[in-house]
Amino acid sequence: MKLKNERKRLIVFGKKMVAANLTNGTGGNLSYYNRKRNLIAITPSGVEYEDMRLEDILVLRLDGGIVEGDRKPSSETGFHLALYEKRPDVAAVVHTHSVYATTFACLHREIPPVHYLVGFCGKKVPLAEYATYGSNELAKNIRDSIKDYNAVLLANHGLVSVGSDLMTAFNVALEVEFVARVYYQAQNIGKPNLLSDQQMEEVIEKFKDYGPVKND
Ligand SMILES: [Zn+2]
Repeated sequence: MKLKNERKRLIVFGKKMVAANLTNGTGGNLSYYNRKRNLIAITPSGVEYEDMRLEDILVLRLDGGIVEGDRKPSSETGFHLALYEKRPDVAAVVHTHSVYATTFACLHREIPPVHYLVGFCGKKVPLAEYATYGSNELAKNIRDSIKDYNAVLLANHGLVSVGSDLMTAFNVALEVEFVARVYYQAQNIGKPNLLSDQQMEEVIEKFKDYGPVKND
């Protein structure tokens, strides 16, 4: 079995995604790109994380060709592959439908630097234009919006986050959801004070030295 260890990690983080309320049922998907072996492990379409077995995970090439697995790969395989192609620093992609991030995605509003933890993503959380789920157009919109950010809101859909390993990509998704919730709540009471460009630069610089934790 190819990428056995990576398959195990995908199942662990799929369950974490459900436990952290970042998605439910079979929603969302995850992948890991072993760049040395040039192989991608990705979750299947329509299997609950709770029931997912190692053999349910698919192994693909960067062109989408299936190397191992009988299941149907995630319906969002297209944008996972597009992100690996676009960003050489990325080895893990996590896609969620977390409620607060998705709320802003439905308003077509980016998340500004309302809390320093936005720095997990960059100086803001950008937004990719709407396209039908699973479409080439959606993959293109995400590819165009990701730039150097570590996450993108998908209009009327959800969130995708990236990282050099699964733990990092998962933590980005978790922190973006936290910040989205805080932003939503703060706006219900008043007008949130945003951090300045300079303040965010300092945070991002500091994260480079001390975290987010980068081990997988
Ligand atoms: Zn989705």
